Parts: sequence; structure tokens; C-alpha cells
Amino acid sequence: MATRVQLTPGQATARAVYEAFAREHIAPYADAWDRASALPEEFITTAGAAGHLGGAVPAAHGGTGLGALEFGLLNEEFGRACSSVRSLLTVHGMASRAIARWGTPHQRDTWLPRLATGAAIGAFALTEPGAGSDVQALATTARRTDDGFVLDGAKRWITFGQRADVLLLFARLDDRPTAFLVPRDAPGLTVTPVRGILGTRASLIASLDLHDCRVGADALLGRPGFGLAAVAADALELGRYSVAWGCVGLAQACLDASLAHAERRETFGTPLRDHQLVQRMLADMATQTSAARLLCQQAGWLREAGDPQSVHATWMAKYLSATGAFRSASDAVQIHGAHGCGEEHPVQRYLRDAKVMEIIEGSTEIQQTTIAQSAYHSRAADRVSTAAALENTPAGAGGKVTA
Ligand SMILES: Cc1cc2nc3c(=O)[nH]c(=O)nc-3n(C[C@H](O)[C@H](O)[C@H](O)COP(=O)(O)OP(=O)(O)OC[C@H]3O[C@@H](n4cnc5c(N)ncnc54)[C@H](O)[C@@H]3O)c2cc1C
Repeated sequence: MATRVQLTPGQATARAVYEAFAREHIAPYADAWDRASALPEEFITTAGAAGHLGGAVPAAHGGTGLGALEFGLLNEEFGRACSSVRSLLTVHGMASRAIARWGTPHQRDTWLPRLATGAAIGAFALTEPGAGSDVQALATTARRTDDGFVLDGAKRWITFGQRADVLLLFARLDDRPTAFLVPRDAPGLTVTPVRGILGTRASLIASLDLHDCRVGADALLGRPGFGLAAVAADALELGRYSVAWGCVGLAQACLDASLAHAERRETFGTPLRDHQLVQRMLADMATQTSAARLLCQQAGWLREAGDPQSVHATWMAKYLSATGAFRSASDAVQIHGAHGCGEEHPVQRYLRDAKVMEIIEGSTEIQQTTIAQSAYHSRAADRVSTAAALENTPAGAGGKVTA
């Protein structure tokens, strides 16, 4: 049983709907999509028609405007079935949110109703050959023309870049990081599929090359200079939140598969589930999955409350979820033995997908350093607030503090 605490009746119903959709429309096909390195158009149409691509689009623009918890549960259930589909939710959601939050009325009217239904797909294009974890190394340039902008540079590893109709893309305008909305048919944009990637193989990853790429004046999203600090930071926060929940689903899938196999498979005259060393792996999987889900829920509650601590909570949630998913996937393959190494069993897909989760949306190492630095800041802030509280008590005025 998956532990879930304090879901409202509405959230519990939403989760059941997402689970049923994933069970019917995603899980049975995920291995085939992985082998084909593609997600079929029919799936995008079906998911769009069901409203599952409009979670980050406000209802006023035709989306479902999901609350943070519902969006998290959607990502968990889709991630449990297929990390490539979950990654569609992630990048499409990031582009949708950025347009909803920073777009002009014209940009919102142009893109949001189509993004809401999946009639248009959005992607997020930040990474470059020389700029990955270090986003300040952004080198793509933008210059003004009479009727818009000209972009030059290269973007790499762009999830759903092969399919996206609009790219939330970052470039330096007068040397200031700036966000742009680049339509797929912009002259000078070349999209090259990336083949043979380790995991999330069906996520239609592309390299993008911009040579004298011309976009209109309405391509500018937000103010020049605010591309990284505001637009990308906010989108990446949603992306990290989405991946964190997706990893909970992925780890849950590892546990589900391992419990079933350990019950079925016998060695030395007894089911695997009776061997204590196998039980250790099952116990770790179950415990880490529950812990990661709780951290994701905490991040969701804080996001819904508009609490700035949600940023830190999301880092922690993503860190635990991604590292835990990778450990769970590795143990799942171990429990399956040779059966887990073949193409016919999804646990080898889970392991490949889980490794990717430790690299995207802030690698494990970047999270570790960020969380550690934040822990120092929290400690300093705690000391200040404790001192202030003591100042305001009789004890602070010279009295004695008692419990
Ligand atoms: C499947 C997949 C999908 C992706 N989708 C997208 C997408 O849709 N859009 C997009 O813009 N990008 C995307 N990316 C790119 C992804 O965001 C980058 O891979 C990520 O930011 C890491 O950058 P990098 O690969 O250049 O690694 P690097 O930054 O070169 O880092 C290499 C290693 O060094 C470590 N490292 C780096 N700096 C430090 C440090 N200061 N301290 C300790 N360790 C450090 C990293 O943790 C990592 O392990 C995708 C990548 C993959 C694999």
C-alpha cells in the first residue's frame, strides 16, 4: 500500500483519475515507446483531450489550473507508468507556466489555449554545449532588428524539442539573459533528433541550432535581463517539483514490480520474499518512497500557500526522490536477476530513466551543495529568531527561561 497523508477528497479523486488514465493509456505501451524512441501523436491527442496537458494553464485560458498537490499527483501517476510521458508534463508545464506568468495578453491569448489542450506543445531550451549546471555561461545571443530579434547559438538535450511548437528559449540580449518564445517554424532554427540516449528515450530529445534565426518583436518574454533570475528560475522550480513527484512514481513502480517478482520467483525451495537480504531491499524501497512522497507533499503544501520556503523544500524533495528512485531501480533489477536485464521487463527501463533523474533539473551534486548552503542560512536565521524571541520574553530581560 502506498502511504499518502492528508489528501483532500478532491485530491484523492484526482489521483484515482490520473492512475486510471495511466493504467489504461500509458503503462501498457511504455516499453514499446521506449524501444521506438518516440511518443505517438495519438497519445498526445488523447492526453490533451483528457485535460492532462493543461495543468499549468489557468482555467481562464482553457486549462485545468491544477493546484500544486494535484499537479504533483498527476506527475506521480504518469511517472509511475512512464518517465518519458512525465517529462512531457514537465517541459510543457514549464513553458505554459512561464507564458501564463510573464506573458503579455497577446502572448497568453496566442499560446495558452492551444497549450491547454495539447494542440500546441511547449519545451524549455536553456542548456548549451558550454552551459549545463552553470547557466550563467549562457552564450546564445539575441540582437534587435527593426521588426524583432535575431538569435544565434546552440541548445542541447531539449526534451520534446523534436515535437515542440513553441520553445521557451534563453539568450543574451545586450549581454543580459533574456527569455524568448521561439516558434518551431522560425526561419534559421534547425532541429536535430538526439538518438540512443540512456533514459527517457521516448521524450523526443533534440539539439537546436540557431543561425540568424529571426523572430518577431512579440517573441520577447518578460523584461530583458530577467531571463535567468526570474523566468528560468521560476520555470525550473516547477520542473524540479514535477520531476520530484515523477521520481516518487518511478520508485513506486520499482517497488510494485519487485514485490510481485519476489512473490512469484522461488529459489532454494522458497519465494524470494522470504529471503532476508531481499526483504532488506524491499524495506529500503518502501521506506524511501514514502519519505520522498512526504517531502513532495510538503513542497506542494508550501507551493500552494505561496510560502517562499517551497523553493528549499522542492530541492530536498527532488534530491531524495531522484537518488531514491535510482537506488530503488538498481535494487529492482537486482531482485529480478537476469529477468530484470532483458528488454521484456520494464525494470531495466526504470534503471535507465532513474539515472537521468539525477542529472536533470539540478543534478544531485548541485542539489547537495545548494541544500548544504541553505542549511547554513537556516541555522543563522534560526539563531537570529531565537535571540529575538528571548529578547521579547521576561527571561530575555534578565529572567530565567524554563521549559
Ligand atoms: C535526458 C535529458 C533531458 C534533458 N532535457 C533538457 C531540457 O528539456 N532543457 C534543457 O535546457 N536541458 C535539458 N537537459 C540538460 C540538463 O539540464 C543538463 O544535463 C544539466 O543541467 C547538467 O548539465 P551538464 O549535463 O552540462 O553537466 P555539467 O554541468 O557539465 O556537470 C557534469 C557533472 O559535474 C557535476 N558538477 C557540475 N558543477 C558542479 C559543482 N559546482 N559542484 C559539484 N559538482 C558539479 C554535475 O553534478 C555533473 O555530475 C537534459 C538532459 C538530459 C540528460
